[in-house]
Amino acid sequence: MEICKLEHIHKDYRMGEIVTPLKDISLTVNKGDFIAVEGPSGIGKSTLLYVMGTLLKADEGIYTYGGKDVSQFNDAQKSEFRAKKIGFLFQDSTMIQALTLRENLIFTQGVGGNKKNLKKVDELLYQFGLEDRADFFPHQLSGGQRRRAMAARCLIHEPELILADEPTNDLDEHWSEEIIRILKEQTTKGTAVVMVTHNSRWAGQATRRLRLEDGVLADIAE
Ligand code: ADP
Ligand code: MG
Repeated sequence: MEICKLEHIHKDYRMGEIVTPLKDISLTVNKGDFIAVEGPSGIGKSTLLYVMGTLLKADEGIYTYGGKDVSQFNDAQKSEFRAKKIGFLFQDSTMIQALTLRENLIFTQGVGGNKKNLKKVDELLYQFGLEDRADFFPHQLSGGQRRRAMAARCLIHEPELILADEPTNDLDEHWSEEIIRILKEQTTKGTAVVMVTHNSRWAGQATRRLRLEDGVLADIAE
C-alpha cells in the first residue's frame, strides 16, 4: 500500500550560484518499505528528506502523500501532517538546550498531558539506554547519547514514515546495530523508513538500496 510518491521532483538552491541537488526524482514509498539512500557528501540526500518531510517545497514535480498533493496543504495542515505522520531523525543535533532529555522528548512531539505518550517516552528512554540520563540537559550528554535521544524522539508518536538522516553518526558499533534493528522492527509494523547512510553495511539491511547522484535516484544492483 502506497504511503507517498515523488514524481519528477526538482529542487534548486539559488544563492548566487545555482545548485541543483534534485533534478528529476521519482520514488514511491510503500507501507513497510525500508529504503536506504546512499551517495557522496553534498549531493542532496538531506534535501531529499526535507522535501519528503515537507520542510522544503519542491520547485517542480508532484509530491503526494496518502494520495493527496502536499503542495496544496496550507501551513497549518503541513504542521499537523508532520506532527502526526512523520518521524524525522535529523542529521544535526536538534535538541532544546534549556530542556532536559525527557522534557525534550515530551515537548518536541507536543505530547504533554497525554498519559499514553508519557509512558511511551519512558519506555523509549529505556529502550535506547537513556533511562538514567532522562534529567540531564543536552550539553551533559555525549554525541552518541544525543543521537539515541533523537532516534527515540522520532518514534514517540508512532509515525507512518520515518526519515532518518545518517542515523548511526556518532554511534559505536553496538548502538549503530541497535538503531538499525529498531528501525527495521518499525517496518515490520507497517511503518516505512527512508534512511540516508554512507555505510554499506547498514544500507545492506534495507529492502531497497538507492543511490542519489546527478540529481536522480538509481537502484543499486544487489
Ligand atoms: P547531502 O545531505 O547529500 O550531503 P545536502 O542535501 O545537504 O547534501 O546538500 C546538497 C547541496 O545543496 C550541497 O551542495 C549544499 O551546499 C547545498 N545546500 C544545502 N542546503 C542549502 C541551502 N539552504 N541553500 C543553498 N544551498 C544549499
Ligand atoms: Mg546530509
